[in-house]
Amino acid sequence: ESIILASQVEKWYDNNFHVLRGVSLEVKKQEVVVIMGPSGSGKSTFIRTFNALETYQKGSIIIDGIKLSHDLKNIEAIRREVGMVFQQFNLFPHLTVLQNVTLAPVWVRRRSKSQAEEIGMQLLEKVGILEQAHKYPGQLSGGQQQRVAIARALAMQPKIMLFDEPTSALDPEMVREVLDTMRSLASSGMTMVCVTHEVGFAREVADRVVFMDEGFIVEIATPEEFFNHP
Ligand code: ADP
Ligand code: ADP
Repeated sequence: ESIILASQVEKWYDNNFHVLRGVSLEVKKQEVVVIMGPSGSGKSTFIRTFNALETYQKGSIIIDGIKLSHDLKNIEAIRREVGMVFQQFNLFPHLTVLQNVTLAPVWVRRRSKSQAEEIGMQLLEKVGILEQAHKYPGQLSGGQQQRVAIARALAMQPKIMLFDEPTSALDPEMVREVLDTMRSLASSGMTMVCVTHEVGFAREVADRVVFMDEGFIVEIATPEEFFNHP
């Protein structure tokens, strides 16, 4: 059963630069898809269309039965269903770790503060940073901040998680802790679309690997096919 259905998506800028040239992808529930390809090939732009961070001019995108219209009418519903983690963690620096994570349950899911804190603490435990709950993001390592960002996205109870180069801004020793968190999220059955250059993660966790180049998808394959072909 497909949860993301993107058909012939096209996007271009005023200067006629065509960043997406008719890109189609179907993602099934609980599938983990990794998107690879050179810088500037449209990977980030493509996944950002899935939660309406980018508009597009042609084609169609349906997320869990919700049609993402070109004029972004269903934006609130989509943002609830699709969580996103960025290369830069984008945490609120003046809020504690726990407050960063409880914002969504309080404001979007309309939970009481105490319910939200319970959810928040559970999520922080899940990503392994319960001890840091009352610290500020600036007091945490990059790897810890990225795990807070993952917990914050999960607090929305999304059906899909998008990752846009989540380890690219991290020192090498912190990459693994973030990949391990993503790996356990995948094992829990989350549908995930990840733009990443981490070949090990793609090999071991991806159900399918998508390769983009110059605004096209040029290959979709299983990791075995993708990494072993001559
Ligand atoms: P990737 O994630 O594969 O690195 P992106 O989706 O970030 O690729 O690709 C964005 C491309 O679109 C880049 O080549 C960038 O220069 C171009 N781009 C982004 N914004 C604009 C804009 N406002 N006008 C023209 N080109 C743009
Ligand atoms: P990143 O690689 O950090 O994702 P982007 O490619 O998305 O960066 O571009 C960052 C900003 O610069 C965006 O606001 C984008 O619109 C603008 N931009 C990028 N490339 C171009 C370009 N070729 N012409 C005009 N604006 C651009």
